[in-house]
Amino acid sequence: MSGLTSLEDALALLLEGLVPVAEVESLALELARGRVLAESVDAAVAVPLDDNSAMDGYALRSADCAAPLQVTQRIPAGSVGALVSPGCAARIFTGAPMPPGADCVAMQENCAIEGDTLRVLQAVTAGENVRRRGQDIAEGASVLPAGRLLGPEDLGVLASVGCARVAVRRQLRVAILSTGDELVNPGAAELRSGQIYNSNRFTLRGLLEQLGFVVVDQGIVADTPEATAAALEQASSLADCVITTGGVSVGEEDHVREQVQRLGKLELWKLRIKPGKPLAYGRIGDSAFFGLPGNPAAVFVTFMLVVKPWLQARQGAQVEAPLPLQAQADFAVGRAGGRREYLRVRVEVRHGQLVAARHPNQSSGVLSSASWANALAVIPEDTTLQQGDPVTVLLLDQLKR
Ligand code: AMP
Ligand code: MG
Repeated sequence: MSGLTSLEDALALLLEGLVPVAEVESLALELARGRVLAESVDAAVAVPLDDNSAMDGYALRSADCAAPLQVTQRIPAGSVGALVSPGCAARIFTGAPMPPGADCVAMQENCAIEGDTLRVLQAVTAGENVRRRGQDIAEGASVLPAGRLLGPEDLGVLASVGCARVAVRRQLRVAILSTGDELVNPGAAELRSGQIYNSNRFTLRGLLEQLGFVVVDQGIVADTPEATAAALEQASSLADCVITTGGVSVGEEDHVREQVQRLGKLELWKLRIKPGKPLAYGRIGDSAFFGLPGNPAAVFVTFMLVVKPWLQARQGAQVEAPLPLQAQADFAVGRAGGRREYLRVRVEVRHGQLVAARHPNQSSGVLSSASWANALAVIPEDTTLQQGDPVTVLLLDQLKR
């Protein structure tokens, strides 16, 4: 379809030459979840530090294991043993360092003990039931790269090499503005005819907070040029990125485009995706600007597909794209559209097969469909689909991360 920009082209334009926020801060490890590493981390120590026992049992010389052995010492985790001489064994527990001389551990289930005399009932070979020094992480090895978005398991790994503080990039500040004279915040007043509750604000806040950004909530903006300009100016002075919803099409009640043009620079795209055809991008001062559609389901989808990649790149985070999974369509798409469609679907496993069911109402005004869905099905441009055909799905849990 001519005149429409593909999602790929739009993303390439957005991300070209984008520089991550420069400021770095040092954080205690317990505060670093969800933050982005500014520098790679190398292991100051080997993990584990010593060869140690993988089992509760007896440490011994493998060459000795046929004859009865004398148990001469006891090595619980946290203590260090002495030399195991020929003909001897050490009682040892999981995680305790291997004593010098011993080269294997006989697990206690395979041993008979009488007084101090041990008989190994099942032969053990050198290295058996021993965890080698550095088998998890070698001393000096690179543990995590710069750009890593720190998850709980990363914090555990950093702790395992003794890291107490990490250098992370400062959090992006993202301002949100809800435009529309019809909007009322829930709890503020009862809804009169012609009004709607402001849902975009909550969807966006949630998405942004879950991604670890600082939200600067600029509230509801009236549909006048003055109010729009004032709100945009203030938001751009407070944040790295300003996201508006609504007011971005061509009606005379839509002031966002004109005011961004006046205050900064605007690029408007008609994206070749559905939902989310009209999308504005630009700059106001040092701040980036995204003008999302007003329709709530379109806000949800375009945020994840377009805004999130920009935010994460600007944050300096290296993030894996959602894994495209293949499901069987439990629906048909009869009429081919010129735009790539992202349908709100629920995937589930039926008889071992991933099946995608479509929400019956795909209108971009129907937000409950996004809440019901657990995935988006991707219908390529100019494509029809029969019931039972394979269809690519992207899980919402992955799209939101
Ligand atoms: P607009 O682009 O401003 O014409 O908005 C398109 C549609 O989205 C209209 O039906 C608006 O009422 C609706 N809408 C705009 N902003 C919001 C919002 N913050 N929450 C819920 N619906 C909205
Ligand atoms: Mg509006």
